Amino acid sequence: MYFLRTGCRWGTINVDMTFRRPDIIRPPSEWKSYFLPLTSGCSNNTCAFCGFYGSKLQMRDLDDVKSEIDALSLFMQGGIRLPAVPNVVYAVAQGWDGKRVFLQDGDALVYPFAKLKEVLKYLNERLPSVERVASYATPQDILRRNPEQLEELKDLKLSIFYMGVESGDDRILQKVVKGANHRQMVEAGKKAKDAGVALSVTVILGLGGVEGSERHALETAKVLSEIDPDYAGALTLTLVPGTPLYEEWQQGKFHPITPFRSLEELKIIIENSSFTDCFFSSMHASNYISVRGNLPKDKKRMLRELETVLATKDPALLRPEFLRGL
Ligand code: SF4
Repeated sequence: MYFLRTGCRWGTINVDMTFRRPDIIRPPSEWKSYFLPLTSGCSNNTCAFCGFYGSKLQMRDLDDVKSEIDALSLFMQGGIRLPAVPNVVYAVAQGWDGKRVFLQDGDALVYPFAKLKEVLKYLNERLPSVERVASYATPQDILRRNPEQLEELKDLKLSIFYMGVESGDDRILQKVVKGANHRQMVEAGKKAKDAGVALSVTVILGLGGVEGSERHALETAKVLSEIDPDYAGALTLTLVPGTPLYEEWQQGKFHPITPFRSLEELKIIIENSSFTDCFFSSMHASNYISVRGNLPKDKKRMLRELETVLATKDPALLRPEFLRGL
């Protein structure tokens, strides 16, 4: 690891010159957060549909993370900018309200537990205005931690995990090399919730292709009901060049569903799911239409909205391809 150590009148700043700061990939609801990288890449880089496929996981040095927190704290207190600190820190901090932090990258929960605790403690100490810290977490990351550890993290304000479930169908999960099955998804989700950590999960419409579509939708409704998360979001599969699923599609081995079939999958999932109180949405930019509401309260209205679009099958009602995002 190569460091640039530079002094200034507020102390010494360490800048890890080998850590590649990741691009900002975040859940839609984290748009107001400060994005603090602990890792780059994803520890489970095998998912056949994901842009993180094959990424090399990098752990950021703890001192470097602390230096960024110091710099952020100085900036928030008095607009002080330090010359050795990358511009991106100030670009992200500009306009930040000081309340929410999102830990990057693909699964920041993989950061070694003792160091993660130290980061959170330091963050709370230097930026007491922070109300909530969030991160992506794989089911494997959650299952690796014991309940007491998850509670400790929650007490240090790491109080929401975003977990990709993708599908409830074990055959699909295995095919896309997700690294966790239906049972483990449920176990991880319940473990987070039992520790008092809010849980937001995502599923991917179209992941089973044409052949697996019905099974995917029904099993996904089942896994979501069993997890019973606080938030659930549907994304629509976007085939990313360089991923195995994209290659399969190019070779004619994977048959993507149509945009209207993705709405039918969404309808099956909403119809067949049973939640205590879950904010469910398809607001993500990858989707062809956006429906949102609290389930079960808004189930009828959300289904009606989908049925209206499905009855006409008018492409003008869908988000155009060029406006869809990952
Ligand atoms: S675990 Fe999540 S971020 Fe990592 S490769 Fe799979 S889908 Fe992508």
